Amino acid sequence: MICVSVLRTALPLLALVLASAADAQGSSQTAARATLFQNVRIFDGKASSLSAPSNVLVKGNIIERIAATPIAAEPGVTVIAGNGRTLMPGLIDNHWHAMLIRPNPVEAITGDAGYNNIAAGVEATDTLMRGFTTVRDVGGPVFGLKRAIDTGLIAGPRIYPSGAVITVTSGHGDFRQLSELPRTLGGMLSRMEQLGGSMVADSPDEVRVRVREQLMQGASQIKLTAGGGVSSPFSPIDVVTFTDPELRAAVEAAENWGTYVTVHAFTPAAIQRGIGVGVKCIEHGFLMDEATARLIAEKGVWLSAQPLPEDLRLGFPVGSVQRAKADEVWPGIARTYELAKKYKIKTAWGTDVLFSQALAQQQGAILASLTRWYTAAEALAMATGTNAELLALSGKRNPYPGKLGVVEQGALADLLLVDGNPLENINLIADPAKNFKIIMKDGKIYKNEN
Ligand SMILES: [Zn+2]
Repeated sequence: MICVSVLRTALPLLALVLASAADAQGSSQTAARATLFQNVRIFDGKASSLSAPSNVLVKGNIIERIAATPIAAEPGVTVIAGNGRTLMPGLIDNHWHAMLIRPNPVEAITGDAGYNNIAAGVEATDTLMRGFTTVRDVGGPVFGLKRAIDTGLIAGPRIYPSGAVITVTSGHGDFRQLSELPRTLGGMLSRMEQLGGSMVADSPDEVRVRVREQLMQGASQIKLTAGGGVSSPFSPIDVVTFTDPELRAAVEAAENWGTYVTVHAFTPAAIQRGIGVGVKCIEHGFLMDEATARLIAEKGVWLSAQPLPEDLRLGFPVGSVQRAKADEVWPGIARTYELAKKYKIKTAWGTDVLFSQALAQQQGAILASLTRWYTAAEALAMATGTNAELLALSGKRNPYPGKLGVVEQGALADLLLVDGNPLENINLIADPAKNFKIIMKDGKIYKNEN
């Protein structure tokens, strides 16, 4: 009996020791690596023009030196002849669902979890190969995928995970069937909850439990749905879901843990309730009015907006509840971007691609579509330097401490070498296979076709 109980205690500890040894090995390999980019023109993630011809030395996972004069190549350094091409920060998608790209909604919940995990891994590699070196994952059981990427098991972007979306009964993210009702408090979890895709919480106490469970698993921020959504079956767009005390419980739990809450919200009522209790970021915001836009700006709250493509709306079957809701929301996208510009709201960019590998392949094209409202330089700055500022809100829960989204001395070396000038032709980023000659993440080259 003693042996068994000792083993029970020792095994998880042993697993932890082995895992950290593997992580340490990964980082020491990184430290030995060095790459010198010669004769590149830099888009630094902020400025509206490229630098003069420059040389950039990456050592380990850090941009060590940027100089207009030649940098000597020490032995063992990988030298890249830039030939005047553009060196820019790796792209960041601030509204991504890494686990929910390849499956359809039914497969995501009732399908084989092993298969879905492998499909998500393959998609993560594709995501990196599109030049997206970081994603903020705002809902889905993504912790295992993140670990597989961070430990070098598979290639993929850095992931800022939220873990499960937290929703109320019937809210956006409650994908249960009516046959699964009624829920017994403290009773068995639904399949969707067992997978960790979304968790239902109907009181401040339940919210605290679910938030802390995500934090325990490594969430870098917490995502709740404060109002109705398009893709879920039982939440009308106009509803406000969590009560003030419920939302406040989430904000307190997240802030006690050193991080923040972001909420899915379309309507002024849902947005205002979130801001009222200290939410730091609004996802979408597509039905906001002038007064709400002004409030977002005044409070310095982030707007995480997406230029959702028409194909996504048209993907919902004609006559379905989802299509009707999409038709209601889509016209608000343009108005929201106009309000964001008018009130100088801190605006992050993302795609919110769901259940479509084909749309995921448009990730760069969706970014380029921001030029409906912004210059190419503004759009690219949003997807690099600005998006990284939002990521930094994770504070001590930031899984990748260091500077992302910029080409600066001392920043993390997530870099793209682009054949051409994307500030003049942003459509270059819509065809990453052709135009991204080098893709580097954390100082490691994942693609080299230079
Ligand atoms: Zn989403």
